Amino acid sequence: MNMVLLGYPGSGKGTQAKVMASKKGFTHISTGDLFREEISKNSELGAKVKGYISQGKLVPDGVVLAVIESRIKTLKGNVLFDGFPRTVEQAEGLENILGKYGMQTDIVLFFEVKEDEVVKRISARRFCPKCGAIYNLLSSPPKTGEKCDACAVQLSIRDDDKAEVVKKRMEVYKDLTSPLVSYYRTQGIFHVIDASQDPDRVYSQIEAVTGNKKAV
Ligand code: AMP
Repeated sequence: MNMVLLGYPGSGKGTQAKVMASKKGFTHISTGDLFREEISKNSELGAKVKGYISQGKLVPDGVVLAVIESRIKTLKGNVLFDGFPRTVEQAEGLENILGKYGMQTDIVLFFEVKEDEVVKRISARRFCPKCGAIYNLLSSPPKTGEKCDACAVQLSIRDDDKAEVVKKRMEVYKDLTSPLVSYYRTQGIFHVIDASQDPDRVYSQIEAVTGNKKAV
């Protein structure tokens, strides 16, 4: 079973995907995480995507789809796509790629939350530059100040979580990603999750929609 998590940046897709991956055995593919990893490795792909990400723009569909295909072909399904697809072209590309390997998208979860709430969440997001741990000063703050609980290192803000870039990311979401709601809504695999609630309640809603379905 393959699942797409759709919603604004900061709507909690990544948090829930991590829980579902560990509880239900899905492979979590976050294109944002994947690109950040490539940037930190100074790879060719990292160099290609860096400029787009730092400006809050989307990486071109062809680049994203090539990365997705290279991952999908090594897997036997049971994938949770987080932050992908982000355009209708990517959604169509995903179905073509899955189709080639005898699969499809089975469930789409739309994380519904207001724009001002996600902007608030993103501006409180911090990470540890040493171990990569993620904190949120509002919902999951570190124990002391803005220091990592494990490393005691001063926490950082992702470059693209800075206010000017967040504004651009919100515009891009509205222009290019939100049309996916109508694209998927008619397909009978679309479910709305109230993502304004706390993470435990959001997870209960996901359980209610996906039932006892496990990846394997
Ligand atoms: P995220 O962590 O999902 O918010 O992604 C961070 C950034 O990576 C985005 O603002 C885009 O620049 C880029 N990115 C991630 N996923 C995609 C995608 N599916 N299509 C295009 N660009 C993406």
